[in-house]
Amino acid sequence: LLHKSMKAKKLDVASQLAASFSHEIGNPLTATKGFIQLLSDEKISIETRNQYLKIAAQELDHAINIIDDYLTFANPAPKNRDKIPIFESIQRGIEVLTPVAEEHNVKINISLLKNNNCFVLGERKKFEQCLIYIVKNRIESMPNGGEINITLDCNRTSNINITIQDKGIGMTQRQIDQLGEPFFTTKENGTGLGMMVAFSVIKGIGGKIEVESLQEKGTTFYINLPVGQGDRHLDPIV
Ligand code: ADP
Ligand code: MG
Repeated sequence: LLHKSMKAKKLDVASQLAASFSHEIGNPLTATKGFIQLLSDEKISIETRNQYLKIAAQELDHAINIIDDYLTFANPAPKNRDKIPIFESIQRGIEVLTPVAEEHNVKINISLLKNNNCFVLGERKKFEQCLIYIVKNRIESMPNGGEINITLDCNRTSNINITIQDKGIGMTQRQIDQLGEPFFTTKENGTGLGMMVAFSVIKGIGGKIEVESLQEKGTTFYINLPVGQGDRHLDPIV
């Protein structure tokens, strides 16, 4: 009975999410359509035309971002489990973000405690995507640049601990509570899907995240992963 009610709850969340998803994606698409219609007027100036084109492209980008984030989340749990080499995956995630970090004057440091060849079982691409979402938020939280510190503590006999720290704008208690809720964003062009995806990926590989944040001081995530255990399931709500 318990199992049944949990399943019903899960479906409910999925359909709610699908409804808000079509709403969130409908808005930028409707806006784009509006600007395309305006563009068909031959009398508008080049400047106005360029401005409309720019806005239409921005709105489409926003819709694309939402689709990208949502699809990472909506993919069913993987059938094959990769051996995810944690240290390499973190390096890969950072590599992808290097241009964004440089543009924002942000330096990313990784330090490694103990050995560097620990792994967990799960889908490597999703895990790397999850790291990218987490680190990207940190870059965006430091408008004047700064440093992000990542520490990896691998110990073959116990869990793997990853600490990710920024000295950015931080969050209020209310924002911490809302973190991971679909479409929760404080950014003008945010999707509010990154943390939802990141949390569900970590949960899928059997891990936990703790969040510590102080406004104007920064934010730290403590991620704890089980050594060599697999993707059990992907649950949309953490
Ligand atoms: P998005 O980045 O598109 O807004 P996310 O789900 O990635 O969506 O993040 C949701 C919100 O959580 C952000 O808008 C921001 O307010 C907050 N947040 C996440 N990470 C941090 C961080 N490191 N520092 C400050 N705020 C953060
Ligand atoms: Mg984000």
